[in-house]
Amino acid sequence: KQNFDNHHFREQFPAIKNIGMVYLDSAATALKPQVMIDTINDYFANNGATVHRSLHQTGKETTEQYEAARYKCASLINSPAVENVIWTRGATESINMIAYGYLQHAIKDGDEIIINDAEHHSNLIPWLMVAKIKGAKIVRLPLRENGTIDVQCLDTLISAKTKFIALTQMSNVTGFMPDIQAVIEKAHRKGVKVAVDGAQGAAHSPLDVIASGIDFYVLSAHKMYGPTGVGVLYYSPNIADEFFPVYGGGQMLSTLEGETIIPKKSPFKYEAGTPNIAGILGFGAVLDWLKNYDMEVLKNHSKQLVDIIDRELQSTVPGYIRYSQPGSSILSFNISGLHHVDFSTLLSEFGISIRSGKHCAIPLMKHFGISGTLRASLAPYNNESDAFHFIDAIKQTLKILRP
Ligand code: PMP
Repeated sequence: KQNFDNHHFREQFPAIKNIGMVYLDSAATALKPQVMIDTINDYFANNGATVHRSLHQTGKETTEQYEAARYKCASLINSPAVENVIWTRGATESINMIAYGYLQHAIKDGDEIIINDAEHHSNLIPWLMVAKIKGAKIVRLPLRENGTIDVQCLDTLISAKTKFIALTQMSNVTGFMPDIQAVIEKAHRKGVKVAVDGAQGAAHSPLDVIASGIDFYVLSAHKMYGPTGVGVLYYSPNIADEFFPVYGGGQMLSTLEGETIIPKKSPFKYEAGTPNIAGILGFGAVLDWLKNYDMEVLKNHSKQLVDIIDRELQSTVPGYIRYSQPGSSILSFNISGLHHVDFSTLLSEFGISIRSGKHCAIPLMKHFGISGTLRASLAPYNNESDAFHFIDAIKQTLKILRP
């Protein structure tokens, strides 16, 4: 591993210079390192072939790189079974594939699914849709007042009818990371399956799928310096027989006997159609590049910057209300009496890219009794100067909104 040098790390992200703004929206999507851009350009300029179909030279090369990227991703999450790592178009698609390829078959009328109100809509709506189709009951893990998920309540919530628990590894609003291990242990003791949404969490601390014993884990390449349109779905070998393909199409079947589909083995049976080849190769390059760094060190850098901003706002901005948890790379907040949308629009005038709104988390906004928050999300390419520029921009904006 390299010693982390923020300047050197930052230099590898051309968009930082080119957009000329302070980018504090990495939880929405992270910026991309040059190595990813070069890999994608190289594929389109010098190869361009598809995968697993054409036996000519470039077709073979692309297939090898594509499968090498899968191997790198399996090793990121410590899956010895490379075939249990499926390429998708994003975390949202991965979750929908679990909902329709697994849960829809595994539950019946009256069964229970445990979710909670702190989830991103992507880890909420698919379960509600399947519950409706199957007549299953939605049970909610309670949230504490501060929006964190109380996983201890599972002891009483899991019933003989509970079949499935879905929860996030890290909230995209509060940055809270529930004790996933405790959830898996409590669930498995009662034969309940667990799906974890790693869209935010994997960018900081990818889960070890073997040590944790997780049933399903999903991640999103674009939140971890990779391209948009690439996601990952890991499923445990223990549930291979209960997890069915959702999409039918080219390259997912071994043969067709009349109307009987004989699917290929995993992962191919879950990957019908031409995948996002360029994106997957780009993500493979990112995974190689990430190995140069200790992800714990990267995470701490972002947290320290959030801490600087938080402490300054606490001590100098009257009406500052923080919703995110301390020690996170995400800072969600409001300033009382001011609307988050007005605020973020003005901050953009001062060169700050920050998100405002509900963050695809309507139930959590209802829990807090608010219409939305401002959300600054930091990454290892941010530096102290970004943090101070942001603080200064907030003060300038306040002078306009609260003259
Ligand atoms: N879950 C969480 C917690 C997220 O933050 C996001 C992205 N905003 C998603 C799921 C959806 O991920 P994707 O964009 O890859 O579909």
